[in-house]
Amino acid sequence: MTTDMLAPSLDLTALRAQFPILSREINGHPLVFLDSAASSQRPLRVLDRMDRYYREQHANVHRGAHQLSVEATEAFEGARRIIASHLGANEPAEIVFTRGTTEAINLVASSWGSKFVGAGDEIVITKMEHHSNFVPWQLLAERTGATIRFVDVTPDGLLDLDDLDRLLLGRPKIVAFMHVSNSLGTINPVAEIVRRAQAAGALTLVDGAQAAPHLKIDVAELGCDFYAISGHKMCGPTGAGALWARRELLEQMPPYQGGGEMISEVTMAGSTWAAVPHKFEAGTPNIAGVVGFGEAVRFLTDVGFDAIAAHEAEITAYALERLTNVDGLTLYGPRENKTSVFSFSYLDIHPHDLSTILDQRGIAIRAGNHCNQPLMDHFGINATARASFYLYNSREEVDMLVDGLAMAAKVFCHIS
Ligand code: PLP
Repeated sequence: MTTDMLAPSLDLTALRAQFPILSREINGHPLVFLDSAASSQRPLRVLDRMDRYYREQHANVHRGAHQLSVEATEAFEGARRIIASHLGANEPAEIVFTRGTTEAINLVASSWGSKFVGAGDEIVITKMEHHSNFVPWQLLAERTGATIRFVDVTPDGLLDLDDLDRLLLGRPKIVAFMHVSNSLGTINPVAEIVRRAQAAGALTLVDGAQAAPHLKIDVAELGCDFYAISGHKMCGPTGAGALWARRELLEQMPPYQGGGEMISEVTMAGSTWAAVPHKFEAGTPNIAGVVGFGEAVRFLTDVGFDAIAAHEAEITAYALERLTNVDGLTLYGPRENKTSVFSFSYLDIHPHDLSTILDQRGIAIRAGNHCNQPLMDHFGINATARASFYLYNSREEVDMLVDGLAMAAKVFCHIS
């Protein structure tokens, strides 16, 4: 692939200049940030928007009749409109703000689960899931006596849809699965899985944490019932994310937490709930975080998801070509239909050692199980090294990673 394939609207030099942190040096080298799957970096306009919010607009939302509270509420609810439109929701009320994907899934498992899941019911998840789409269901199963079944993963790192069909014979209440794998980059066939699950009478929850940063999401097209995202993986601040669900579904669900903001009326005899989505947003929310999250989605939309996809496709193809030619490197996951994340083992260097030595050259990769212990068990490994590329990464950074690997081989294995 050549740089001709770059979508015309993505000017990498200008784009990188919008991310102040990318001009940092680490250990005397320019930062090569290849850990965006864990958390991306933020452009100036997101930082500026949050700064302006705190300097000029801060007050608590929803409760006040004074000017600042009105402005803060407008900024907060404006972000809800941006995220609703980004996900293709029918209306902003279908967006519940959470701390992130983890909290969104906990909300569903706790609220929807407490009402609709009981002893003997089945819940289907997959062996590919991040712990945040594992543990909330385990907690629900412990509380209710439900059983969890796990869709198998093929040696290529794809979901085994025949195994899904087999598990659907058990008529599960819900099928909860990731859109994109954080370790393997696999892009799962969401619409197809949803179609099969719904034919078996199950609801579907999609963990979109690794999809929303890269792909334009349309929940109507996907057909799912719940979709969860994290702002900090898509150029937004930490501590702000969202759950999307259809209004009827949210209305059937009991509150997740109690407190201010989520009530209609409180008496000593009992309380009634605010309308959705506020019923699920107890307490003072992360207002600045949500405002920054909205700005991040506007930023990505302005860059253009087509341009982002074209750029990442080029980087992915180039990284695949370079990494598959590194002797002693084992790459996990599919080669096609994947995002720009690469998990690998290299010679017999422990991933943590590899990460440490690359860091000496300013190259930030992640090492560990990536909150995917069951997937690691499935592949018979404890950990991988993971390099994840995002819209601001370049082909040169792929080269620097490969050069860094050669240096690590020299240091650890005396290979020259
Ligand atoms: N799901 C996937 C696939 C992830 O990669 C992550 C984070 O790495 C999460 C869920 C959890 O996201 P958060 O920590 O933002 O809640």
